[in-house]
Amino acid sequence: MDIKKAAQEIVQQAIEWRHTIHRNPELANEEYETAALVEKVLTEAGIEVTRYENSTAVLGVLTGGKPGKTIALRADMDALPITEQADVPYRSQNEGVMHACGHDIHTAVLMGAATVLARYRSEVPGTVKFLFQPAEEVPPGGAKDMVANGVLKNPDAEYVFGLHVTVTKPVGCIETRGGYSHANTDGCTITVRGKGAHGAYPHNGVDAVQVGGHIIVGLHSIVSRTVDPIDSGVVTVGSMHAGTVNNIIAETAEMKLTVRTLLPDTREKLKKRIIEVAEHTALAHGATAEVDYWYGYPSVYNSDVAVNIVKNTAQTLLSEDQIYHRDQPGMGGEDFAYFAQEIPGSFFYLGAKTEGDDAPAHNPRFNPSDDSIVTGIEMMVGVVFHASK
Ligand SMILES: [Zn+2]
Ligand SMILES: [Zn+2]
Repeated sequence: MDIKKAAQEIVQQAIEWRHTIHRNPELANEEYETAALVEKVLTEAGIEVTRYENSTAVLGVLTGGKPGKTIALRADMDALPITEQADVPYRSQNEGVMHACGHDIHTAVLMGAATVLARYRSEVPGTVKFLFQPAEEVPPGGAKDMVANGVLKNPDAEYVFGLHVTVTKPVGCIETRGGYSHANTDGCTITVRGKGAHGAYPHNGVDAVQVGGHIIVGLHSIVSRTVDPIDSGVVTVGSMHAGTVNNIIAETAEMKLTVRTLLPDTREKLKKRIIEVAEHTALAHGATAEVDYWYGYPSVYNSDVAVNIVKNTAQTLLSEDQIYHRDQPGMGGEDFAYFAQEIPGSFFYLGAKTEGDDAPAHNPRFNPSDDSIVTGIEMMVGVVFHASK
């Protein structure tokens, strides 16, 4: 089939879907209307749709007319608690909520790709699973539940692909990344317990502020002495609260940390060291520290085989100067990781820069271009064909 022609046939409709979704942004796990629209479009296209109890997730399954592999394509649907300031005709009509990460485009692109694949079903190889997931922005995220609900099973998907808009690249372009692209996004709360006393009589107490200060200094030495300099890690103490007034020795102090890593080993190493430093530093000063450590999204690993499918697809659809390679991973998170942990996956970027606009994602003026959508549809359709080659 002529993928470019087929994408052209649907692109105006997909842009309208994007505008509808953008006007009616919904927060994580509240994507009711968005999911209803997705379900309607998929059903009308003749795609088999599954919904789940207490979830806004939508799974679409399309069986192609030719033999081939089972491929999963993923889009996220949630918006952010931001009041939109972008000057666009389809501005958010849901006060305080905005599609400021481009998930409106991801959803519209996948609806467009699904419609195209359904229209040309007889030529489509294998089976295509469309994963419309809730709550990418809010851990534990919507992907984990979908995996638990078996969306990648029966028939078992062999590869999973997802994309994200980037306003650092022009429209018409894509950017791939092999290996790690996103970090393990973990964190903890450290509660230091000392003993309250009068500020003039410190010897009668154990000062949680002073102990907390030593812990913070220790925490900031962990990455430099524990992580291989060629590897990456981040420990940020984003919040520290203790005490009330000037003449009272604080009994407790509470710190909240963000911890980012790429490799699983480094993830465990930092966790262990943070707990040791907090607990033992507190002990050394006569206090105690309790560490409530939690795991967020795992890091995204893009497998070579899936990345090559994306690259091969791009080479047939785009020109050489429209295909970028991202040199470095980012330390942000992305729950596409849960899908890519199960089967080989590739998360790639869709150029969406609007000329004269440089607001980044999560900014109230974020304004990725409609013109990115056609390339997104072409790529999502294209990988289905290339994966079965
Ligand atoms: Zn985001
Ligand atoms: Zn996003």
